[in-house]
Amino acid sequence: MATIQTKGLTYRYGIGTPFEKTAVDHVDLEIESGSFVGIIGHTGSGKSTLIQHLNGLLKPTEGSILLDGKDIWAEKAQMRQVRFRVGLVFQYPEYQLFEVDVLSDVCFGPKNQGLSKEECEAQAKEALQLVGFPEKYYHQSPFELSGGQKRRVAIAGILAMHPKVLVLDEPTAMLDPNGRKEVLRSVMELRKREHITVILITHYMEEVVGADYVYVMEKGKIVMDGTPREIFSKVDELKA
Ligand code: ADP
Repeated sequence: MATIQTKGLTYRYGIGTPFEKTAVDHVDLEIESGSFVGIIGHTGSGKSTLIQHLNGLLKPTEGSILLDGKDIWAEKAQMRQVRFRVGLVFQYPEYQLFEVDVLSDVCFGPKNQGLSKEECEAQAKEALQLVGFPEKYYHQSPFELSGGQKRRVAIAGILAMHPKVLVLDEPTAMLDPNGRKEVLRSVMELRKREHITVILITHYMEEVVGADYVYVMEKGKIVMDGTPREIFSKVDELKA
């Protein structure tokens, strides 16, 4: 069964105003459980708007999102569970950091899930280890860390909630090539270990070479989809 499916998903900003804009236009995705899926496209093509639907941050103007076959908007009471199952890491995840030290920051999610202090800390430490964050900095302020480390902490904060699906919006933007490689490597290791589904938004084509499936977005629509091999064989079309 597909973990995540969207059917005719459409989102318009500013409905009824002169600024009305269809940011996502009848998008159908089918993302298998445990797969690694890439979504690529230019800035403004609708990628961020699309993925904010996957954990219910935005409600579709039209169409639906199914998580394990169930419409996530069918029962409002279920939305909390949806948010825990689908973890979303924003484009600049360091802006999601706000606690006094790294460990408290990563504990925030599990604490919200109602776990005890001990359980939270255990899950937070496990998540920090998974992303390769050094233990000696656990009690440092997250604001004093390097860009790459901040990003690891932010990703760990989502992982500590044990999501089944991890959605990353340009997790390597603004990082140097080493930082980019490191962040991606830890995500891929994690996927192998935990068998989670990973959805990666990027505009670096090389970051989706290892994906199982790739969607290309343009002006709110999926204009191409296939395996990376299929997509890269149409590279001229893609550049156009
Ligand atoms: P991407 O993630 O591919 O850069 P976005 O989803 O951010 O694309 O944007 C898709 C379109 O929606 C763009 O034209 C953008 O200007 C517009 N848009 C994004 N956010 C808003 C908003 N809050 N209000 C109005 N328009 C928006």
